[in-house]
This record gives sequence, structure tokens and C-alpha cells, in this order.
Amino acid sequence: MAEDLYKVLGVSKKASDEEIKKAYRKLARQYHPDRNPDDPKAEEKFKEVQGAYDTLSDPEKRQQYDAGGMFGGFGGGGSPFGGGGPPGGGFGGVDLGDILGGVFGRGGRRAEPQQAQGRDLETEVSLSFDQAVNGAQIDVNVPKAERCTNCHGSGAKPGTSPITCPRCEGRGVDAQSQGFFSISQPCPQCGGAGQIIEDPCPTCGGSGLTQQTKRYKVNIPAGVKNGTRIRLAGKGEAGPRGGPPGDLYVTTRVAASPVFKRLDDGNLEVTVPITIAEALQGATIEVPTLDGSKKIKVPAGTKHGTLQRLRGEGPPKPRGKGRGDVRYRLEIEVPEELTEEQREAVEKLAETLNGSDPRAELLKRAGR
Ligand SMILES: [Zn+2]
Ligand SMILES: [Zn+2]
Repeated sequence: MAEDLYKVLGVSKKASDEEIKKAYRKLARQYHPDRNPDDPKAEEKFKEVQGAYDTLSDPEKRQQYDAGGMFGGFGGGGSPFGGGGPPGGGFGGVDLGDILGGVFGRGGRRAEPQQAQGRDLETEVSLSFDQAVNGAQIDVNVPKAERCTNCHGSGAKPGTSPITCPRCEGRGVDAQSQGFFSISQPCPQCGGAGQIIEDPCPTCGGSGLTQQTKRYKVNIPAGVKNGTRIRLAGKGEAGPRGGPPGDLYVTTRVAASPVFKRLDDGNLEVTVPITIAEALQGATIEVPTLDGSKKIKVPAGTKHGTLQRLRGEGPPKPRGKGRGDVRYRLEIEVPEELTEEQREAVEKLAETLNGSDPRAELLKRAGR
């Protein structure tokens, strides 16, 4: 890890969730690209802050990070740059619109008439470990504002049409010159829509939208992780008065496996117990794989915690780049009690090892 995520946010390792959130909000405001136009350094910093918060605000990710897990760091998919992320989409529980609201005023740049885009929506799907590894098709039900079927989204009573706003003549903006500045704001008469509905649709009350619950089939690609975000373009809320729809973001929640532990590099790890005898003499042992089991070699003289890897046995990598690995952590099991026979055998072993004191060198180095 090149950067200390706590340092990025300027908080201590013991910082509470609240402190982390506060630090993030402050820095996100400071470095937000809207505030620092054409400043790539600020943008870089913003992404860094975003990435640090992404990890530290998620208790599971933070724990992994604290434990020394590797984290790619930036933008766990929630980056507002590229990919057309949601303008006010939730980043780990903090609504960016909420952060920026007090500073920039939301929607300030939406001064164009009508055709406002519908809101982006977020939802979650719960997946079993197997579904996440193999991919799945999951139904999600999304309650949302959809185009009114009575007026087809226009908001006008069927048989009537909206009229052009007389105040702004359909431009939707109210421009006023105040000395040096020209201030544009949404037209107060039509609310920026450029049109006025004289006879509202009785079904939707003129908004062009009604609350509906839609069901979508979401194709979960093989190899998704916990917290992967999948974008369904155009499946967000319908735009008011016939505007284009927003997007739907589906976040995966993957159940933990009792056997396979997901590593941050996309590979899996399995803890495998071995006996003292197997560690000393070596052995060929059977270990579980994703679709069955395989044999691996334990070399003679294996130390506790040794890792053995089966390449290509892990979950599929994103974008069809083959499959990851499963690594096996060999842990030597030490029996708490010995039978009489075992005790004798260990005593014999101890005798044969007599004379080689592994701590002699240590004590010598320490000057004892
Ligand atoms: Zn309607
Ligand atoms: Zn108007």
C-alpha cells in the first residue's frame, strides 16, 4: 500500500466512524472538481480522499485494511468520474449531493428547459458465495417513479397539451443582469420546464410520473465481490415530463463462505490443517477446490503458515481474464493431549534432537 488511508483523511487509526465521515466531508468539499476547475492535482486528491473513505467507512473493508490486507485504494466503483456515476449517488452512506448541497446548490447547472433527467437509483442484491463465483441472474424489485401511463409522461390531461411558458418563452431560464454579472435561474413561473400545464393529468397530478414497482433481471457476472456495483443504464427513475430516465445501480452483497476466504486481489484462501508428522515427513493431501477437490504436496519440513497455490482454480477474473488462484495456508495442528504411545514417541524424538538448541544463537546475539 503506497498511501496510508488514515493519513489521506488526516485522522488517527482509532478514529470513530463519525470522525472519518467528518474528515471526508471536509476534504471532499475542499478538493471537489467543481471548486477546482482544471486543477488535476485537486482532482487526484479528491479521488484519493474518495478511495480512502470508501475503504475506511466500510467496517468490513476497514478491518481488512487494518489487518494489512491490500487495497487497490481508489474508487471502489463509486467514482464520480467517467462511467457516468450518479450525480448525487451514495458513496458509502454519504450522499455527495448532501456534501455539495450547501456549497454549490444542487441542479444549478440544469438551467436548460425541461427534459430533466430522472434520478439514479440504488439497490442491493444478496448473493450466496457460489452465485458470486459462478454468476447468476437475480430478480430485483425496484419501487420508483415511472412514466404515467395515462398522459404518457407529459403531465397534461389526455387530449390537452402543455403550453409554452409566456414568461420565459419556453427557455426555462430567467436571466437578470445585475451590474457586471448576468444571473440565470430557473423560470419561477414554469419551474424551468419551459412549458405550463393548464389541465393536469388526473392520474399523476401533472408530474408525468406515478409510483410503480418494476422488476428487473440483473445478470450478475461470475466473480463479483462484495460491494461490486452494476449499472443498469436507463433503469432509474423516469424523468419528469418525459425527460430521459436515470440509471439503476445494483450493489452486490455476497455471503461469506465457511471455507473460502476472499482476498483483495480476487484470489481465494483456504486454511488447511496438517499434522506435525505431515509437516515433518511431507505428504500428499486432499484440499477443497471450488468445484471439487484436488491433491497438493506438503513438502517435508513444512513450516506453520506455509502457502501452497493452485493456479487457475480461483474465481473468474473480471472481463474474462481467466481465473484467479486458490492458495492454501498450511497450519500445523498441535494436539492438546497425547496418548501414552505418542508421549513416548515425542520423547524419543526429543532425545534425537538433543544437542541442537535452536535458541543458543538467539541468546548469543542478545548477549545473554
Ligand atoms: Zn399523467
Ligand atoms: Zn417559464
